[in-house]
Amino acid sequence: MTEITFASFGFAGSILGALKAAGFEKPTPIQEGALPAGLAGKDVLGIAQTGTGKTAAFALPILQAMAANKLHSRRFATRALILAPTRELAVQIEQEFKKFGAGLGLNTVLVVGGVGRMGQVNRMSRGADIVVGTPGRICDLMSTRNLLIDQCQFFVLDEADRMLDLGFMPDIRKVVAALPTRRQSALFSATMPAEISGLAEGLLRDPVRVAIQAISSTPSRIEQTVHFVDAGAKRALLSSLLHDPSFTRAIVFTRTKRGADRVALQLNAEKISAAAMHGNLGQNARQRALEAFKSGDVRVLVATDLAARGIDVTGVSHVVNYELPNEPESYVHRIGRTARNGAEGIAVAFCDATELPFLNAIEKLTGVKMEVASGTRPAHAQPARKPQRHPDLVVRKPKPRRPQYGEQRKTRAA
Ligand code: AMP
Repeated sequence: MTEITFASFGFAGSILGALKAAGFEKPTPIQEGALPAGLAGKDVLGIAQTGTGKTAAFALPILQAMAANKLHSRRFATRALILAPTRELAVQIEQEFKKFGAGLGLNTVLVVGGVGRMGQVNRMSRGADIVVGTPGRICDLMSTRNLLIDQCQFFVLDEADRMLDLGFMPDIRKVVAALPTRRQSALFSATMPAEISGLAEGLLRDPVRVAIQAISSTPSRIEQTVHFVDAGAKRALLSSLLHDPSFTRAIVFTRTKRGADRVALQLNAEKISAAAMHGNLGQNARQRALEAFKSGDVRVLVATDLAARGIDVTGVSHVVNYELPNEPESYVHRIGRTARNGAEGIAVAFCDATELPFLNAIEKLTGVKMEVASGTRPAHAQPARKPQRHPDLVVRKPKPRRPQYGEQRKTRAA
């Protein structure tokens, strides 16, 4: 059987050159499945998670079409729109478009929140070929007519299931309603809950379906262990683990943004270089943290699930689940940050007695029983501690008013 190469798809010379320069030797399975359909102008439904090469699977056909047809958009309009759930993923997608479209003279604009909108409006004013963005800011620019999508020929919805989790569905419906009916669309999602299948049905026309690796499977190259530990002892356990030099590049996951800040602060105090990355930080701060982690300036990235989506850093030796996620799929995404591109990796979970139900759900989903690294597996879970309410949210009952003289008499009489 002849091996499928990028050249066999008939890509423009500059795209092939960029693929070669990026070290893409042959298409990944999702690319093999989705590229022929995309290049033939068909809609695609891709079931695949980050790390499979899905970005190039949808970006290359769009770039190829633009290489063959150099139209200019009118002011504020775009020819292609890509929606991603997080800023980091949007940045990564935009970089991939720029990398492979470098020789095509296209105007690619990033439209995400967390940074000023004026720069984005200015860039849109001369018309764009490709807009990559997150739903909130996209809708914001659409509402002021600084982004026009009525002539958009290509639409991609990436990580649709995550969009659903994050409550972006109303924004997405707004975007879809403003698109022209004549267009080529693609939807990518790691899982296919009923809402996403419904959305895909309305969005895609006779799509080619390409499914790569179910979400429930964790790469077998990842060694998974669990420490049963009291919540109060997690800090000390984390420091002792991170003092081990084999943790060359680690991502530590916490459930909350404040938790991520606290852990990063504590590690730095102990001379373990760490940076926090979460949704409360501005886009620039998040990008800085990611760059410092990529370059090796910091050894530990402390992140929340949302911020970690789409982090694509090679050579992550360990993923530490400082707190277990309550959605088992998030665990699969988290540990997928290690063992990328065929490398091996280690995933370490901390589990206190209240988190046992989360651990059970994860093990049920993945079908992998984690090896116990320390402590003993409790037989039963303890009920989770009641979350403390923010003082501003506490509703105080009004004090009962002392009845007035006349009222008292009336009550008695009644
Ligand atoms: P993605 O799933 O699109 O986030 O891609 C995951 C990683 O794989 C990214 O670093 C891509 O640059 C890389 N990648 C994608 N396709 C290929 C390929 N055909 N050959 C080598 N690396 C690839």
